[in-house]
Amino acid sequence: MAIETIGVVGAGTMGNGIAQTAAIAGVKVVMVDVTNEALAKGMAALSASMDRLVAKEKLERPARDAALARIETSTDYQRLAAVDLVIEAATENADLKLRIVKQIESVVRPDAIVASNTSSISITTLAASLADPSRFIGMHFFNPVPLMSLVEIIRGLQTSADTAEAVRELTVRLGKSPIDVKNSPGFVVNRILVPMINEAFFVLAEGVASAEEVDAAMRLGANQPVGPLALADLVGLDVCLSVMDVLLKDLGDPKYRACPLLRELVAAGRFGRKSGHGVYRY
Ligand code: NAD
Repeated sequence: MAIETIGVVGAGTMGNGIAQTAAIAGVKVVMVDVTNEALAKGMAALSASMDRLVAKEKLERPARDAALARIETSTDYQRLAAVDLVIEAATENADLKLRIVKQIESVVRPDAIVASNTSSISITTLAASLADPSRFIGMHFFNPVPLMSLVEIIRGLQTSADTAEAVRELTVRLGKSPIDVKNSPGFVVNRILVPMINEAFFVLAEGVASAEEVDAAMRLGANQPVGPLALADLVGLDVCLSVMDVLLKDLGDPKYRACPLLRELVAAGRFGRKSGHGVYRY
């Protein structure tokens, strides 16, 4: 099935980034959120992002105007009735997402695909709540969506090959690079990246080196564009902690134990850039 129109549920950081990317690629978008304020905020964020692309001459003004005209917003899930695919990008909470995916299934066509952008919830578990789990899949985009090339395409146990193929085709049309991933905690990127960040907190806590030195070491010695502690501030220390807790719980291996310093900083409200203070002050 060729996907021409998509629904995006959740107009936050990821949802509005996905809507922007799809609209620029010529795909029509219906973006749904619970309040008009959330929708207006999402539209303002994606318009500002497109304006920055125009200023940098990476997007022509007429293309920006056409992309904006392809996005419709609504607080009513019924507006998803005609779309080919819905990407759920609402708040990361398992009960909420179970409710949302059922609500999506109740309004979309029987052949529409339902995808989730979840970072940590099992795709197989979310799929199992649907009458037809074969049409459910994970589409894990990275932040900021317009700039990051990767999409992890996550097959749950019951995802059909047709569903995976249609989503892979769309991902390429969006200008992204898909990788196929089997449902597993943290998928690929977070399974590798977040334990590395966690190890940096152990190195810091043990006084092996200062935060600045840990980051400089990994930039200059491992060619990382951003050091692991600065990256933790960018991602959110709370997000890093919750990924470690999921890896520990679901994989059951003590090597995924969160560093006590990371837990302590989160307890103090030091979430990183978004709270003005994490490892560093902003
Ligand atoms: P966010 O908090 O910025 O946005 C979430 C949006 O969902 C909000 O606008 C909220 O109003 C809306 N929402 C809540 N309940 C809803 C409902 N019932 N129906 C419709 N909309 C509803 O969150 P985010 O950072 O965009 O994350 C969204 C998803 O993407 C999460 O599952 C997260 O794990 C995943 N993700 C986030 C990142 C990241 O770096 N932020 C990266 C990859 C994946």
